[in-house]
Amino acid sequence: MIRIARSDLPRRTATALAKATEKIRAAHPDERYTNAKAAWENSSAKKTVKAKLEEMAYGSERCMYCGESRGTSVDHFEPVERNPLRTFDWLNHLLACTTCNCHEKGKQFPVDDAGNPLLIDPTAEDPFDHLLLTLSLGIYRHLTPKGEATIAVCGLNRPGLTRGRMQARSVVALALREWDRARERDSADEMLGQVQVVREQPMADVCQSMLRQAFSPGADLVFSDSPDLLALLRREDLRQALLS
Ligand SMILES: [Zn+2]
Repeated sequence: MIRIARSDLPRRTATALAKATEKIRAAHPDERYTNAKAAWENSSAKKTVKAKLEEMAYGSERCMYCGESRGTSVDHFEPVERNPLRTFDWLNHLLACTTCNCHEKGKQFPVDDAGNPLLIDPTAEDPFDHLLLTLSLGIYRHLTPKGEATIAVCGLNRPGLTRGRMQARSVVALALREWDRARERDSADEMLGQVQVVREQPMADVCQSMLRQAFSPGADLVFSDSPDLLALLRREDLRQALLS
């Protein structure tokens, strides 16, 4: 899971969403959920919302929770069943794959004793404030209760994802070494090509974790098997190319 910048919606769509919310608010509280569900299914604004989320998603429209599969649907961060009034709330919309949307997170929405969500919204906060990726195993450890709940609710350590992250680490390492060879040949096109390889990879959280952990106090240990990779990850020109 990585931080994602949320864009603004076109004014027409924002107005349509606000109107839809007012309609739900006007209904009797007992009927809001049913009304909201039906209104969302039939909403013409849904297409624009999805297209905007796809633009925001990193690389090839990846799921904003797992970062692996293509995001195929609009997920309601706070489920419609729990809060129908947020059905058409743009700030409540994320792009998710079918596994995360339907089989893992589903209708779960844990909260703490004060009622605050115990689930990371990657468009509102930095997931790395709550999660630490163990690069050698592809496994997330939690740094906070919110991180712990997010790992459980989104199934972030399911075997397919941990294997994928280890694979992503290898692909990123290969691409960065190729980037360095291209740099020695002074081939700007090839350097850009390798940056693109990394950007289009699933599991963008792996590369971002590598870039962060390259400057962590334990960096020498994390990259003990690949000091050349650590040196590359610390290069300002490469960091800028990967993070821009
Ligand atoms: Zn997913």
